[in-house]
Amino acid sequence: MNYVGRFAPTPSGPLHFGSLVAAVASYLDARANQGSWLLRIEDLDPPRTVPGSIDAIFLCLDTFGLHWDGEPLFQSQRQQAYCEALEQLLQQGQIYPCSCSRAQFKANSLYRCPCLAHPPSSQGLARRIRLPRQSITVDDVIIGPQTQHLADDVGDFVVQRKDQLFSYQLAVVVDDAEQHISNIIRGSDLYHQTPRQVWLQNCLNFKQPIYGHLPIITNNQGQKLSKQNLARPLDILQAPSLLSEALERLGQATPCTLRQAPVEEQLAWAVAQWDINCVPKCMQDPVAFA
Ligand code: GLU
Repeated sequence: MNYVGRFAPTPSGPLHFGSLVAAVASYLDARANQGSWLLRIEDLDPPRTVPGSIDAIFLCLDTFGLHWDGEPLFQSQRQQAYCEALEQLLQQGQIYPCSCSRAQFKANSLYRCPCLAHPPSSQGLARRIRLPRQSITVDDVIIGPQTQHLADDVGDFVVQRKDQLFSYQLAVVVDDAEQHISNIIRGSDLYHQTPRQVWLQNCLNFKQPIYGHLPIITNNQGQKLSKQNLARPLDILQAPSLLSEALERLGQATPCTLRQAPVEEQLAWAVAQWDINCVPKCMQDPVAFA
């Protein structure tokens, strides 16, 4: 099998240390397996796209020596493909319109919405996918197997929002299939979302990639690093030392002599040494303690 990996940032702000760790891990796993490494810009939700952040992501990845193959894929240009996938699910009778707010949906019944039995007729409705009453197990190359009963644990989820934007879940599986992604290494904030994606892959007849989720990186208050809690943007002037910190967090610490070496040199060393089994189960953000 040809290994194809990817990094798929949402341009809702600058990359932070958590994004760097995810980018480095997916890059190293791809290159160590003689694979290609693709870039996808997840600008699915126009109001969330921060002007200038796409160029900043390109510059940042380049500065860290994380050079991707081919042209980046932009979700903002993929509406037709998402429409076709939705149409297929509609034809298969798996989609139903829903007028409930998130709170109403939760209050009714977690797994099934009254809109299924009494379809609303108004315009501008969200669309949910009907879930089977069965468990899905996804093997994770870092964390181990995960079993989720989708209907009970998640409930019929939205594939097209009220404002007619497609959901992340639908877009991500359509794009992973389009880009022939074989291996997905990403942050563990998406670990619990993976069974939903696997279910969509089954429905759409897509091949299931191999998944590996990296431990969440926390700041010194124990909070997950994210744009929402204002994780510090990566300082590209500190690229060599930040890269060596990222490698250390991933359990692939560079020898002292390489700590300040140019990023290309560090990455070449890390590709040769990469061992996914050394990725630890828990990580803290070294920058928060600096
Ligand atoms: N776009 C998501 C993010 O920036 C990542 C999605 C994925 O890797 O599947 O967190």
